[in-house]
Amino acid sequence: MRPPPPQPSTAPLAPGLYIVATPIGNLRDMTLRAIDILAGADLVLAEDTRVAAKLLSAYDLKARVERYDDHTDAWRRPQILERLAAGERIALVSDAGTPLVSDPGYRLVRAAAEAGLPVFAAPGPSAALAALAVSGLPTDRFLFAGFLPPKSGPRRAFLAELAPIRATLILYETGPRLSDSLADMQAVLGDREAVVARELTKLHETVVRGPLSDLIITFADGPPRGEIVVLVAPGAAAVATEADADAALREALTRAGPAEAATEVARALGLNRRALYRRALDLKGDGDRP
Ligand code: SAM
Repeated sequence: MRPPPPQPSTAPLAPGLYIVATPIGNLRDMTLRAIDILAGADLVLAEDTRVAAKLLSAYDLKARVERYDDHTDAWRRPQILERLAAGERIALVSDAGTPLVSDPGYRLVRAAAEAGLPVFAAPGPSAALAALAVSGLPTDRFLFAGFLPPKSGPRRAFLAELAPIRATLILYETGPRLSDSLADMQAVLGDREAVVARELTKLHETVVRGPLSDLIITFADGPPRGEIVVLVAPGAAAVATEADADAALREALTRAGPAEAATEVARALGLNRRALYRRALDLKGDGDRP
């Protein structure tokens, strides 16, 4: 028989804004502290009140729930700040995972902090970190970049900005866009190792690892169902030598002026732009001499 949900603590909750993480699939990932806060809060703010109501009922919690999202932020924020200033305990949840991580709440937290009101973290699940933890990709440095732009042009430009960053990239994606996004990733980032983590903590959890070219083939048959995180390994960590930089600058100078060439090579090789610009001027001077 399943044990009953744990009883919330009776310890009083300090006044303030609580940022409460909730499960990303498996309801047993709820933390005891999240239950305490939701049970003791004067008000629970949620992007979707029906989703929040289901969550609360799963833990036998009764709380007053009101909508708060990016559309209601402008008029709701002043009221919420007033209530916090009056000493209320207000909890913010999102549909799943950690609020503010590709979810509403940034403006509210910023405004509360600026007003000197207490903001407390109630940490717990987040798809980004859950996916990183099982990915098998380097975890010492990572960059969470949220959702990719839906259209290929802006998506490739976005990926080009990420290309020189020496860190594991973590991206949220939807099933219908996965194939196109993987193709753009391979085109812009090269055939790096990558991971597609799907339906984490749920019944159909799958983690597919391999070079982007393999993942493109794996997901060519049709869009996968469910929620997806894509992770991409850092680009080759080879440190560019002076000779590499000179060769790249010489090539870029055949198409562009020194400033543009320096910017391009700095991005591609992860080198200092100012030093490259000086070198580009030297190289150009050499080339211009009879
Ligand atoms: N705030 C949430 C968090 O901390 O993970 C993310 C909210 S964002 C609107 C929703 C996206 O998170 C989904 O489109 C998917 O990319 C990712 N996601 C959420 N739950 C997931 C799961 N169980 N497995 C894989 N990805 C998930």
